Formats: sequence, C-alpha cells, structure tokens
Amino acid sequence: MNSGKYEFLRVRRRFRQPLVTASGTVESVDRILLRTETNDEIGFGEISPWPTFPAETIDQAQEILRSAQGRLSHLTSIAEANKNSFPCLRSALSSCAAWNEIKSFAGKMKCAGLLTAPSVTGAQVKWSEGFATLKLKISPQTKLSEVQSILAEAPTGATLRLDANGSLDLNTARIWADFVRGENQIEFLEQPLAVGHAGYASLGPSKIALDESFLAPGGMSWAGPIIVKPALVGDWQEFRLWRASHVGQIIYSSTFETAIGRQAALWFAAQEPSMLAQGFDTLGRFENDARDYHNSGPIVTGRSDLDWAKIWKEMS
Ligand SMILES: [Mg+2]
Repeated sequence: MNSGKYEFLRVRRRFRQPLVTASGTVESVDRILLRTETNDEIGFGEISPWPTFPAETIDQAQEILRSAQGRLSHLTSIAEANKNSFPCLRSALSSCAAWNEIKSFAGKMKCAGLLTAPSVTGAQVKWSEGFATLKLKISPQTKLSEVQSILAEAPTGATLRLDANGSLDLNTARIWADFVRGENQIEFLEQPLAVGHAGYASLGPSKIALDESFLAPGGMSWAGPIIVKPALVGDWQEFRLWRASHVGQIIYSSTFETAIGRQAALWFAAQEPSMLAQGFDTLGRFENDARDYHNSGPIVTGRSDLDWAKIWKEMS
C-alpha cells in the first residue's frame, strides 16, 4: 500500500495596508500550502498561523515538513507526537484528509463585517454593503463614546462585536464588559485580556468571548462565546468530539488564508448549522497575488467549481 506523499509551498502575502490591531502591526504573512497524495486521492491544506496567536511559527512548521522528507505517514506521526505544538500543521493535515468533501462544498453562510478601528463612516459603508453584524477592533485608546456614536447610527437589527485582542487591563476590561452587557445591540466583547490572564474568572463569561485564549480544545472551558479558527484549532476530529459535548456559541473565523485554506475553513464552519454571522470578512486586504478565489460580503460561499490542481500550479 502506498502510504502517501506530500509536497509543500511557502508563499508570502503582503497586506495593501499594514493590518493594525491592539496586539501589533502586521505587514505580511507567510503561509505554507500542502498537497498530499494517498493512492489516487489528492488533498490540499494550508498552514496559516496568525502572528499573535500561540501556535507554531511558519518556520517551525517548515522545519517539520523538511524533516519528514515528503513521506506523509512520517509527517502525520510527527504531528501526532507533538499534538500541542503544531496545531496549524494538524489543521492542514485534517484539511488534506477531508479534501474530497471540502472541494465540493458550495454552501452559503452569513458573515460579519470587519472594521479594524471603530469609525462611523466605516460602519456606514459596511451597513450599505448589507452587513448586519460588524466586528470592531478596539484598543486601550478606544473610547466608549466612539462605539456609542456607531450604535447611534446603527440600523434596526444591526449588531456589533468588539474585539480587544487581549490588550486591556482588568479595570478597563470591566468598564467595557459593563458597557457591552448593557447594550442590546452589542453581542459580545472578544478577548479583553491577555491569554492566561487570571482576571477572566472575575469578568465572567456573560457576553465575554474568547479567541486567542481558546485556540484548541483542552485549553480551557468557557461558557461564553468562543471564536474558533479552523486553521489554528488542531486536529479537526478532536475538535468535533469536543464540540459535540460543548454547550455554547461558537463563531468560526478566518486567519487570512489563501483560497485553499478559505475553502477548507468555510466547509469546516458549515459542519455546524448556525444563525450567527461568521468571521470571514478578510478578502481584498492583500496586494493582488492571485491567491484569492472566493467572494466577500455579507454572505460568503464555498466554491465547488474550482480546479485546485490548476490553482496549485499557478501558486507554485
Ligand atoms: Mg479575535
């Protein structure tokens, strides 16, 4: 039996405008695209860590890919033996294994509009594009009044999510948590405190969402909303087992993947029926590098019409 082989490709994607969040400025990201071949099955996956999330770096992933010398069984065993150290590699391998289903996914889902800073004008543009839910990045410098002025202009039924990317101190986080809990049109405050901050216990889970702190099942239990990035979550079957017994909102979100990672992440998100808007408003932010093939907007869709072998060649 052919135990399988793989090849990989490292690509760099430059943002048109550096992406500024409370945890830093990102000018470009490197991704590793993975192509596996087992008997006659071809799979694709993408290793796409996000710089401020506690996963492996792209260099660490590349090192493992080099050392396994193209032998898929070898790569899989290394990933298994280092379960907690290589969540992005394990996600990418899960994508390769499920590719037959992923490539035929053409479903639709609601998407939240992403604003990298609170701005009334920015929000109005997103509302006019049809987004009902907006996610605003906030920082220690953001004032409650800036969010209040957006709420004052918000159409009926529109909601906001605030994401601090772990940048607040406990006092500031408390002020924001009280504010968010008192506003019906705000769904939640995401990652107010740094990863591992003891203050989460006193803030409590009501309308407090975790993103960086969650990363993969097993890290911590949390009754509030959880943001899951399919590219960072580790082995997808392990996640499903955890999800089956976890009660609580999950919102799926992108890590600025190429079309390969995006198709896989959309499929992954669609495994769970949800009325919530998902976090895939990440297109159109890179210099034109012919690595995006999906649509953006308030409704996003998978693409079952793409020729992935051709796309792989073009990306090579
Ligand atoms: Mg976040």
